[in-house]
Amino acid sequence: MDDLPPTLHDHDSAEGLISVEEARARVLDAVSPLAPLQLALTEAYGCVSAEDVVASESLPAFASSAMDGFAVRAADVADASPERPAELKVVGKAMIGYRPEAVVGGGEAVAIATGAPIPAGADTIVPIENARVAGETVQLLEAAPAGRHVRPVGEDVAEGAVLVERGKRLGAPELGLLANAGHATPLVHPRPRVVVLSTGDELIPPTETPDFGQIRDSNAYTVFGALREAGAMPVLAGIVRDDADSLKTTVLDYLIQADAFISSGGVSVGERDVVKAAFFRRGDIDFYKVAMQPGMPQGFGQIEGKPYFGLPGNPVSVFVSFELFVRPAILTMLGRTQIERPQVRASLAADVSGPKGKMQYARVVVERGGDGWVATPTGARGSNLISTVARANGLAMIPPGTETAPAGSQVQVMVFRAGED
Ligand code: AMP
Ligand code: MG
Repeated sequence: MDDLPPTLHDHDSAEGLISVEEARARVLDAVSPLAPLQLALTEAYGCVSAEDVVASESLPAFASSAMDGFAVRAADVADASPERPAELKVVGKAMIGYRPEAVVGGGEAVAIATGAPIPAGADTIVPIENARVAGETVQLLEAAPAGRHVRPVGEDVAEGAVLVERGKRLGAPELGLLANAGHATPLVHPRPRVVVLSTGDELIPPTETPDFGQIRDSNAYTVFGALREAGAMPVLAGIVRDDADSLKTTVLDYLIQADAFISSGGVSVGERDVVKAAFFRRGDIDFYKVAMQPGMPQGFGQIEGKPYFGLPGNPVSVFVSFELFVRPAILTMLGRTQIERPQVRASLAADVSGPKGKMQYARVVVERGGDGWVATPTGARGSNLISTVARANGLAMIPPGTETAPAGSQVQVMVFRAGED
């Protein structure tokens, strides 16, 4: 790496810090969409199409009736009316799912169900409501021009048309369309499998009761949820002690199944920190300080070509770092081009103070007020206060240079969820 490790003090000066944009650019420069794979439709759901999918056949593939009734020749019912019905001979039945055996000749009709193929010779449908059946014959009470109530071949999609464009995410309607068109294994960018590790001697799983001073691992679960929401497949690798060899071994053990790694903790103070100790000397991961609060210390690099995110340990820092750096990278790996959260401009409901020289991400609830969007902070600034994230739906951005954004001032808010219970 071309940068020297940043200075390890000066936490409140801008010295040795890189901007959020610079940190994002480093990450995004290093990731690209995963190599496309053909996946079954249920697996491909939510993935991005890696090609223009072209219809190999017309949809529908055969003309069918849009009504229950009688398939006839338009010429035979041209003068039909309730007073002077056209009387035709019923020569058969067209059923859904079968090629009709009967052929409609002059003066003939075939009973037909909605969705059944139009029998040869017929060109229009008279609905059952306008028919009176009498033994072998049917009286039709209205004229029907050719094509009425006939669903023509290719009405939905013409052969050769693009069903789904390259770059399009396969949502519910795309999946249905592809299924209908017989594209059962579309070529998509697969979901990245992301191995999640928590580092720290103090950590225990959430199923256990902490001894004094121990902490339940929350970061793995925050990251798990965030990965799922982004469309990735998290693989929880558990807690790794603050021991460089254990971390290295664990990471290497998971290498074969990982498209990326995320660890939390162990990137801040110095080489005492486990992620640094494990990977800094190998030159795999760069460690730097970003001019942001929370989430200043960050590590990012590649282990055998797989992106490795070394997030800080504090739970709020993890969430914010994920939003800013990991999520856009995951979306890029998924082949998505829309990788930004929506933003709104909102009026602050209370003062927000932050460290000068850093971008402050304040957890807020953003809501529509009578006079535009209003952002209300959800609590104190401490980066250990995960409940302030749980109550929030947005991150208000207080730019470097502003120490206190006063109540009533306008701020940009990244909205990370909307319209939920
Ligand atoms: P570190 O950067 O490893 O020193 O961690 C910073 C702070 O975050 C410490 O107070 C840790 O106890 C805490 N922390 C680290 N990892 C986790 C985790 N997985 N869950 C909850 N807290 C954590
Ligand atoms: Mg730690």
